[in-house]
Parts: sequence; C-alpha cells; structure tokens
Amino acid sequence: MTFTTRFAPSPTGPLHLGHAYSALLASDMAKQQNGQFLLRIEDIDQSRARASWEGQIYEDLTWLGLTWPTPVLRQSDRLPRYRAALERLNARGLTYPCRCNRSDIELAAGAPQEGVPQFGPDGRIYPGTCRQRGMAEAGPNDVIRLNMAAALQQIHQLAFFETSQDLGGRISLERDHLVQAVGDIILVRRNMGSSYHLSVVVDDADQGITDVVRGADLFESTQIHVVLQALLDLPVPRYHHHRLIRDPQGKRLAKRDDARAIAKYRAEGASPQDIRALVGLD
Ligand code: GLU
Repeated sequence: MTFTTRFAPSPTGPLHLGHAYSALLASDMAKQQNGQFLLRIEDIDQSRARASWEGQIYEDLTWLGLTWPTPVLRQSDRLPRYRAALERLNARGLTYPCRCNRSDIELAAGAPQEGVPQFGPDGRIYPGTCRQRGMAEAGPNDVIRLNMAAALQQIHQLAFFETSQDLGGRISLERDHLVQAVGDIILVRRNMGSSYHLSVVVDDADQGITDVVRGADLFESTQIHVVLQALLDLPVPRYHHHRLIRDPQGKRLAKRDDARAIAKYRAEGASPQDIRALVGLD
C-alpha cells in the first residue's frame, strides 16, 4: 500500500510553528517513502471555523513549499458519512445520549480521590450519569457518548504500531486505562453532527491513510481512535507521535500563540528554510 499521510488542521486560528513542524515532517516522510501527503480541513466546529483561516492555511503551507492533491477534503461536507458510522455504533448498543453540562459533570464527579484520574484526553472523565439512557430518548441538545466499558467487551484485541523513536513498536492498549482514564468519550458534540474522534477515524479510513503523523499531545486520543477503528472494522494506520514545539518557557504552543504564527514570521521576513531550522528540521 502506498504510504499516505495527512495534515489535518482546524481553520480556527493561525497556524503556528507547531503546525509547521507537523506538516513538514509528514510531507518529508511522504517524500522519503515515495508516498502521498494529503491536506484535510477539520471544520466540523462551524461556530469557530472561518473561511479566512482556511485561506491562510493554504497560503502558509504553500509558502512553506508543501503541495497536496485537490480538492481538499473538508469535514463539514461529510456529516452523512459520520452519521452512518454513528448508526453502526448505535446498532451495536454502544451509544447513549447525554444531557449533562459541564457543571452537572463536575458535581457528579464529586471530590477528587487519590489515585483516581479526573481528566482524560477529552477533559473531565464522564461519571456516567446518563449511561442508562437509550438512543430513543435522544433530545436535540444532547451529545452522544460511547459506552467505553461495553465497547471494550465487544473488541478482541487492541493494539497499534508506533513508529516514533522513543516509543517505537507495537503498543497494546489497556482496558482498565481506557475505562478509568479515558471513559465515555463524545461521538457527537452539541450542534456539530460529529466529534473530532469519530470524524478522524472515518476520514483516515476513507482517505486510505497508512501513516498518521501527529503531536505527542494526541497520544491518548490515538487510543480512542484505535477503539473506534476496531468497532467500525476500519484499518489501523501506523502512528508517529512527534515531539511538541514549545515556547521559550517550555509551554506547548496553542492556537492563541499568535506570536509564533507562521504568518508573523513571514511578515518579519523569515524564509521557509528559517522555519525549518526553527523547528529543528534541516
Ligand atoms: N484537527 C486536529 C488538530 O488540529 C488534527 C490532528 C490529528 O488528528 O492528527 O490537532
């Protein structure tokens, strides 16, 4: 199978050095492997996505010297695909509608207990208040969650292959960790028709992604993706979790770090080669 990877930004702010590193690394790997580098626009959060940010993504990546096949896949065009995947999970009895808001969850979670994780890759670990509700009761303002414990009972084996130097090799997932430290993740967010996790596994499969290149901050999310791939009978790509680009204080860069925006470096006269050097690529 041809090595196929992707860069999948959300058009909700400027691309910064961390994005540049991820995109350049993925594109370099594709070149080395005579493979393909794809771009995907992750814009299911229509309340935050902006056409102008999408335009800026194309501009910045082109300036960096990246190319990709067009048309580019946009998640907002694919809600029926995500709905079909959700229905498969519904049919297996693994989903439920949840009407809890943030403060309901905090209240139900109670006081922190020693040794019990409070937060997972999706924020506070869901305490399970709505777990007994059936999909027939789903209201328009509910989110849809995955019943993680029930899901794991239907899966045989959970593992993925990691290519990064420090973690390299086959990684087997632990059921207890998934239930306790990840929990009942959201499959459909309020007013979005899907969630990051559901969309990403459907898209990676539909686009024939063999290798996912992403930041080490998504390592826990990758475990969710491997669970969903198993439930939906989708192939599991190889994963490459790369180091994160940090600011001088050692903090991971975030969308709001405009100071590190690629556009800002460009405006100040930096060259694409300067950006490569800044993120430690030659
Ligand atoms: N939209 C996600 C992000 O910007 C994509 C990351 C991924 O799935 O690899 O972080």
